Amino acid sequence: MAPRIRPLILFVWFIPLWLTAGCAKGRSVANDPPAKPSIVVSVPPYLSVVKAIAGGTVDVRTATPPGFDPHSEEITPNRTALLHTCRLWIGIGEPYEARILASLKGATPPFGILRLNQTVSLLPYPAEVDPDDRSRESVPPLDLHFWMSPELLIRHAKEIAKALITLFAEHAETYRRNLTFYLSQIEALDAVCRAKLMNHKGANVIVSHPFLGYFCREYELKQLAVEGEGKEVRIRGLIDLLTRADETGVACVLITPGHNDRGARRIAKMLHRHPVLIDPLAEDPLHTIRQVTDAVTHAK
Ligand SMILES: [Zn+2]
Repeated sequence: MAPRIRPLILFVWFIPLWLTAGCAKGRSVANDPPAKPSIVVSVPPYLSVVKAIAGGTVDVRTATPPGFDPHSEEITPNRTALLHTCRLWIGIGEPYEARILASLKGATPPFGILRLNQTVSLLPYPAEVDPDDRSRESVPPLDLHFWMSPELLIRHAKEIAKALITLFAEHAETYRRNLTFYLSQIEALDAVCRAKLMNHKGANVIVSHPFLGYFCREYELKQLAVEGEGKEVRIRGLIDLLTRADETGVACVLITPGHNDRGARRIAKMLHRHPVLIDPLAEDPLHTIRQVTDAVTHAK
């Protein structure tokens, strides 16, 4: 079940140039502490990954403001300008990132680019997400919520550590030590999730936003999405969805902030369940994975 790693170019590095430029323009008087290098991530879950590995050696922030929907919104020019001094950009392949990448082209100082989506064999969204698209010949949209998989989180933590070590070799030892600890945390969480979910294999998880593709694949659950990327299924979709869920029952109904959850709430009411609010874009993906696991197993 492990996803394939596509051959790819992960980074565009201009380290020698950057080092030269950095030194040449360096502070003539070294009284002020140097500003921490800036790292920018596409979505909040990678904030905690960078912080876990880099500690206080970098200044990390997201390109997106709170409440921003990375699937459908465009970043403002003001926000894009914030990226111009970053040393490392960590993207996941959201549409809005194209503008950032275009603006970073030729930026000074040169920077590193990490495209995490290119290290993953991306899953399509479930078929029920947008029934109207079934008859079209359009390429299905791909699921970018890969931080919900501990296996992929481990892969990306390693990629991020590698990028940080390449850029800031003076902290290599600290980064390696922090990475080892962070990976042990993910592995421990994975073991707990695996144990808790062992008796729930095949269970249906109804979601108002399809963010659980990789999680469900990892733990052998079924994601049934009531709403697609910005589109809500029709009543016939709900009935169809419940009919299929009826075979093995519904483990839980999850709703997410910022997305239309009327369909999911309606289903929860029909099933006499309380919908559980989960934010896929919360800063700590380990906490989010734990929340989903507890929702499925009802261990609140
Ligand atoms: Zn999403």
